[in-house]
Amino acid sequence: MNHPISMKMLNPNIDIDTFFSNLRKGTEKILVLDYDGTIAPFKVERDKAFPDKKIVDLLKKIVKSRDCTVAIVSGRKAKEIARLLPDLNNRIEIWGSHGWEHIELDGSYSNSRPAPEVLKAIEDAAKKVNGYSLKGRIERKDASIAIHTRGLEKKEQKEIKDKVVPEWKDIASAEGMSLVRFNGGYELRDKSINKGSVIREIIEKSGKNGIICYIGDDSTDEDAFAELKDRGLSILISYEDPISSNADVKFDSMDELIDFLKRWSRACGGER
Ligand SMILES: [Mg+2]
Repeated sequence: MNHPISMKMLNPNIDIDTFFSNLRKGTEKILVLDYDGTIAPFKVERDKAFPDKKIVDLLKKIVKSRDCTVAIVSGRKAKEIARLLPDLNNRIEIWGSHGWEHIELDGSYSNSRPAPEVLKAIEDAAKKVNGYSLKGRIERKDASIAIHTRGLEKKEQKEIKDKVVPEWKDIASAEGMSLVRFNGGYELRDKSINKGSVIREIIEKSGKNGIICYIGDDSTDEDAFAELKDRGLSILISYEDPISSNADVKFDSMDELIDFLKRWSRACGGER
């Protein structure tokens, strides 16, 4: 067996060895990765959450192959992802703000603009947290606003949960937006563009024979897993058990991810 014993198959129809034997034959191999909690560890200082060097080295190797594409899809701003992955700039595609922003391989940037009501809702949500000392914990993006609670004292966490979250929930329901809990905080979002719609676009752009794999760790990645059902391989990184997920496979260690990326790089064709 090539794969580590703890890899959990959530979808009984998937066989990982068959997947890799098809991947080797594939002429268009597309690896799509979430950033935080997937290739990079969670950190209170979010601007210092760099991936393990082993992962960066493997991705560098993969993007050199003529038949491979790597894309990062993150809730972070696209430019932030570019800054955190300096060795991969102009070698990977980046989708930021859950898909509202896009940096293509040639570095060109584009974004979608949310409706004025959404911008107003984000403004209102920002005002609700004005009275709290949350320096560096409020993150404003194109179509969302997030509050990061990792590392906060229990008392402050409770205050946010009891006061801010209900207020943001009210704004969300009034504007047809969503209040989403993610690993490390809450986010008020316009979900009309999400990681699932990004996957749809990637599938549409890819050839009929494109082989796609998506790896993510959080609730926001479930949209991508669902979109990829029966069309690609989806992998959830989670340390919890049991789990309910749309993903095909579950990894519960960084070693499993590294092992998977090694196999992916071995399945790639020669250099561009
Ligand atoms: Mg994540």
